[in-house]
Parts: sequence; structure tokens; C-alpha cells
Amino acid sequence: MIINNKTAKKIKQDFPIFKNNKGLIYLDNSATSQKPKQVIKAMTDFYEKNNSNVGRGLYLLSEKAMEEYDNARKTVAEFINSSSNEIIFTRNTTESLNLLSYVLASIIPEGRDEIVLTEMEHHSNLIPWQQLAKRNKMKLKIIKMKNDFTFDMEDAEQKITDKTAILSFMHVSNVTGTINDVKELVNLGKEKGAITIIDSAQAVSSIKIDVKDLGCDFLAFSSHKIFGPMGIGVLYGKKELLEKMLPFTFGGGMIKRVELGNAEWADLPEKFESGTQNIAGAVGLAEAIRYLEKIGQENISGWEKQLTKYALEKLKEVPQIKIYSPVLEKNAGIISFSLGRIHPHDVAALLDEKGIAIRAGHCCAMPLMKRLGLVQGVSRISFSAFNTFKEIDNLVDVLKEIEAKLGD
Ligand code: PMP
Repeated sequence: MIINNKTAKKIKQDFPIFKNNKGLIYLDNSATSQKPKQVIKAMTDFYEKNNSNVGRGLYLLSEKAMEEYDNARKTVAEFINSSSNEIIFTRNTTESLNLLSYVLASIIPEGRDEIVLTEMEHHSNLIPWQQLAKRNKMKLKIIKMKNDFTFDMEDAEQKITDKTAILSFMHVSNVTGTINDVKELVNLGKEKGAITIIDSAQAVSSIKIDVKDLGCDFLAFSSHKIFGPMGIGVLYGKKELLEKMLPFTFGGGMIKRVELGNAEWADLPEKFESGTQNIAGAVGLAEAIRYLEKIGQENISGWEKQLTKYALEKLKEVPQIKIYSPVLEKNAGIISFSLGRIHPHDVAALLDEKGIAIRAGHCCAMPLMKRLGLVQGVSRISFSAFNTFKEIDNLVDVLKEIEAKLGD
């Protein structure tokens, strides 16, 4: 479906949140996407028709639940071009990355003790690695960002070496919106024999992911950022690596055989999914993928590009505004800005009074804020399929009012 002003309004009708919050202009799609009625219905249907635990009951209802869970995994696998047993359901991107930070130590080759990250990382792809470095006496190396908000690839070439154990980086920045050249970075990592990990939390909604083409070892994302429910996320991992790794959490559901003193692990993917899983969440995520694919990721990103182009121009009308996002070609529909010395929290609170929801503050990227020379953080807008040009006009009008009232 090609998105334009008319179809964007039609898409908006799929989202009950707008019926219950009249006049809401939602420009915080990077924090979490809104949920279409199709996804909510799929989850309600699961609870009303097929609810039971999986892998335990030998009765029809349990078999139906198991089938739904398996099908959800297949849908996710096809969505990113992997095999089903390479898809581990987690709670979110953060948990996927934490899982890796705990179990990768078991497969790091001898003689490698460096973890390479970038200056742009979200805290979720920084702190787990800081902790691993502390636990295992490893060294963190950070690839710099250039002033155009892209990775400094020359710096990357220097920092990724034969000592690199892990190379982990973000696909799309949640602050600047930069679409990073992840394939090039994966190749640099692979040339040196490093384990490569991509944090695709901000990329999946509008960029087609093909893990085979990317060639990465691991990739993480969250359902709630692609129209799916909260509380379920994905960790993709190459089968041969997942098979070698120790499990992350232990207990029911992840074993083949147990004795009082020992246990043998289940095959993939169960080995990494202990305890009762978020089955309704998986069902909701699968429906969200179908919804996304029905509209078309390329159509969503095309529309977001049009909105971003318009917003980048229109925002220039606001006195004292400074934008911290790259040129249109490298932008995934996220724009961060500051408004003179006005605190971003004041900007967000005053926009909220007019029904406009945006993100403000450090956006879980304090080191990046420091790199940008920002003490108070940024104000951030992020688009989705249902946003319109008119909403951007409204935003800019209110920003002008705020600047006139509180600016220097
Ligand atoms: N990485 C990036 C780039 C993100 O934008 C986010 C969410 N803001 C995360 C990781 C963490 O995602 P979650 O909170 O769903 O675990």
C-alpha cells in the first residue's frame, strides 16, 4: 500500500489508541510503536480460544497453543531470513543483549580480550558489555562518530583487530536516526575473526532485515517497536554458535534429561527459553509482522522519508533550533534537536499541553549526549506510517510559540 496523506489517515484508524485519545499527535514511535487492532485481537483470540501452556500438555488445547507458538517463530524467522531454530524469544532487545553478554564468554577464542562498540550506542548495548569487560578483565574499545553523525570507518578499521573478541553496534541510532552501514562493519569484524552483533531495535520497523545477507553472528530486536506487544523480543543467532553456547537461564523447559546432580540441555531453541514463555506475545508479534508486511516496510520507510524531508525543512523555521540528525539519505525517520537553552523536558511538557507526544532527555544514550556537547539531552521526534504533514505543521507552530515564550 503506497502511503500518502489519505492512506496515512486510514492506517491511523487501525490504532484504537487514537480513538481513546482524541487529537493525539504521536511523534514518539521510536520509544514504542502504537498497536493496531489486528495485533490486539490476535492476542485476545489466543487467550480466549487457545490459552494453555506449551510443551507440557498432551491435549488438544495445548497442541493448538504449541502450533501457534511454533508458527509465530516461523513468521519471525522468515521475516529476517533465518531458520526457526535460530530464533530465541526473549523479553526485549535489552534482554537479548544481556543474554549474549553472559554466555558469549564460553565461545570466545583464546587470546582475544577486546570488545569493540561505538560512541552512538544505546545503554542497552553498552552496559552489558561494560559488565562483561569487568567480570572477565576485557578491554572496551569505542569507535568514534563523525560530525555528520555516521560511524568513523577509519577509526573502526584501527580499533577492530586480531584481539577483538566481540564487535557489537547499533543498526539505526535512536537519537540521530542515522542508518549505519552495518554490512561494512560486519565485514570488518569478520575479516578479523570477531563475533559480530547488531542491535536492530530501531531498524526493523522500516528496514528489511536479511541476516544471511548481513552475515552477522547475532541480531537483536524488540516486538514493541514494530507494532507488536511489549514483553517479547528476539535474539537471532547462527545455529553453530547457539549450539556451542551455554544456556543463559536454567530450569523447566530447557532440558532433555535431569538427574539430581546434573542436567542435559534441550535442542535449539528451547535450550535458551527456560520457564513458561510469553506465548500470547509471540502470537501478537507474528500478527504485527503480518501487519507490517501488508503495508510494506518499503512503503513505511518511503512515507517516513517524505515526512522526515518535510520536517527537516520545516523545523528550520523555528528560531534557535539545532538539529542533531544526518542528511535525509542516511536518516530513518528520527530527528533530535535542541531549542536554544530551553530544557528539553520543558519543550516536551509544553508540546504535551497541545496533545503532541515527543521524547526528551538523554534517550538512554548519555555518552552520545556528552559527545554532542549536550548536558540536558535532546528533544526527539520519530515517525510512523500514520503520521501526516499536518501534524508536523502543528508541531512547528507550537515549537515557535515555546521559543517565543522561553527563548533567550
Ligand atoms: N537499542 C536501541 C537502539 C534502542 O532504541 C532501544 C530502545 N529504545 C533498545 C536498544 C532497547 O530496547 P528495549 O527497551 O525494547 O529492550
